[in-house]
Amino acid sequence: RFGTAAVAEEPIAPPVEINYTKLLINGQFVDSASGKTFPTLDPRTGGVIADIAEGDAEDINRAVSAARKAFDEGPWPKMTPYERSRILLRFADLLEKHNDDVAALEAWDSGKPYEQAANAEIPLVVRLFRYYAGWADKIHGLTVPADGPHHVQTLHEPIGVAGQIIPWNFPLLMFAWKVGPALACGNSVVLKSAEQTPLTALYAAKLFHEAGLPPGVLNVVSGYGPTAGAALASHMDVDKLAFTGSTETGKAVLGLAAQSNLKPVTLELGGKSPFIVCEDADIDEAVELAHFALFFNQGQCCCAGSRTFVHERVYDEFLEKAKARAMKRIVGDPFKKGVEQGPQIDSEQFEKILGFIRSGNESNATLECGGGRFGSKGYYVQPTIFSNVQDGMLIAQEEIFGPVQSILKFKDVNEVIRRANASKYGLAAGVFTKNIDTANTLMRALRVGTVWINCFDVFDAAIPFGGYKMSGTGREKGIYSLQNYLQVKAVVTPLKNPAW
Ligand code: NAD
Repeated sequence: RFGTAAVAEEPIAPPVEINYTKLLINGQFVDSASGKTFPTLDPRTGGVIADIAEGDAEDINRAVSAARKAFDEGPWPKMTPYERSRILLRFADLLEKHNDDVAALEAWDSGKPYEQAANAEIPLVVRLFRYYAGWADKIHGLTVPADGPHHVQTLHEPIGVAGQIIPWNFPLLMFAWKVGPALACGNSVVLKSAEQTPLTALYAAKLFHEAGLPPGVLNVVSGYGPTAGAALASHMDVDKLAFTGSTETGKAVLGLAAQSNLKPVTLELGGKSPFIVCEDADIDEAVELAHFALFFNQGQCCCAGSRTFVHERVYDEFLEKAKARAMKRIVGDPFKKGVEQGPQIDSEQFEKILGFIRSGNESNATLECGGGRFGSKGYYVQPTIFSNVQDGMLIAQEEIFGPVQSILKFKDVNEVIRRANASKYGLAAGVFTKNIDTANTLMRALRVGTVWINCFDVFDAAIPFGGYKMSGTGREKGIYSLQNYLQVKAVVTPLKNPAW
């Protein structure tokens, strides 16, 4: 029913070998202290791709000691910023050279279409590292015109050992958002990848060492959240924590940071982003972008446009076209050409999404298309649309993180502002209108970290990203991310001759 690319009977073997499965600590690939491993699974089949060394608290201790030593004894924070910039640039070049291998690993481990990884995500990662390489030698303090006979200046210093916990939906992109600014500012890092997608962080960390990164500056520990992740969040010798994932886990890591050493925490959490289609919008374009806003990456985006608000005058036309578009979506093996949608990440997410679809049916939203599993193996879900969705329904309130579009009707701009803002989340919004006044009103009234006007999911290394409300705290990317990884030191010197 959905598209032309049937799921291959036998998945195509991804054109890449897996060479790195151990933990990367102090510049060396090592087994976990316990000797334990865990399997990383192929979402196309549920089969094992590889067994990965399973880090836990003891490995986090080893990694933090290495990062501490690399920070306290150097050379990394003491190298010239230009030398640090050169290493980041060399890494970006190496990653670009290995683009297709890394994209294949990413697609295999996460189920995302290979073409998406190869043509969009990995190039964006390369771009991010070049962007932050550019910042490395442009970070500096100010002189401050204080009252009295004092010379006052600020030093912008690296914060120290950064602990970073990332999710599985954009594994290497999240690695880049975290590692890029941290290293550009001269910090050392311990990164815990998501247990579902450990492969590309290990590969990238290996390339970083090839690029000349000193040992201990970037350590990657694969493993589970409640063990390795919690140990990192509560570690007394970690100076800063950055986390992307669910709001629930975000609360937990914030608590662990508070109960340990009060390390500052940045959080990129969930969302329930409104996508608002006004009556004067170009409907064909709005349909296509609303489709992209929700279904991109199998619906597994924190900023997914998961509440599609459509003005009542264009609602019927929009719905009919949105449904036709979803029915044409090409679902299939992520390694097949032209595939738009692969499998969900794992059985847990797959079941959770099917649960939300049941809830949509039970709450009397109208199921327009989809509504079940796609194919007979792996974690594929049919592109699904509910219309007549009401604000109070679970599917309009909770993050589904799957290919399920909810379409809601509205009558006027003030009403849609109120309803769009009536969410515990505030990550992003899409606004579709040709009227500059409507665009300006909505852009200012929406309590979200990003407003895309007549576009969606425009990501660029320089554009900050982050949430209001329970979507998180702090901003990543752009100049704003540097603040997360710097301490500001005020230095005051008396002036002996105040006349000068
Ligand atoms: P999660 O938040 O539990 O996992 C994200 C990361 O946190 C992983 O690396 C995980 O190992 C780690 N983690 C888990 N528990 C931890 C703990 N107690 N201490 C420290 N680290 C911990 O997300 P999930 O369970 O993989 O997915 C659940 C839901 O989260 C999804 O359905 C989706 O709604 C949401 N999610 C959001 C994003 C996002 O980008 N905002 C990404 C992934 C998942």
